[in-house]
Amino acid sequence: MKRVFSSFNRIAVHHTKNVLEAEGIRAVVKNEILSSAMGELPPAECQAEVWVLREADAQRAEAILMGIGGRAGGPLWKCLSCGESSEPQFTQCWRCGAYRER
Ligand SMILES: [Zn+2]
Repeated sequence: MKRVFSSFNRIAVHHTKNVLEAEGIRAVVKNEILSSAMGELPPAECQAEVWVLREADAQRAEAILMGIGGRAGGPLWKCLSCGESSEPQFTQCWRCGAYRER
């Protein structure tokens, strides 16, 4: 099991899971119930998470998620030059200025 995505937005989390399953990657949503208890717990504890069942799928899952990240506030993308994560709305790495792939 490996976590590939987390968000306070449960719709985005389920969308992510659906995208992965459409690609043949088995995935599950975790912490969904916690996210409805927000206010009781520190925010970081309340994010719903998508986990892939097989470690071997994790890398492909992350590549797919980077591909959908540009639309509708998806997940962060990782800079290929320095490895820093940037928000989906940016097309350049905030740290080193490298352009995002695709
Ligand atoms: Zn960079």
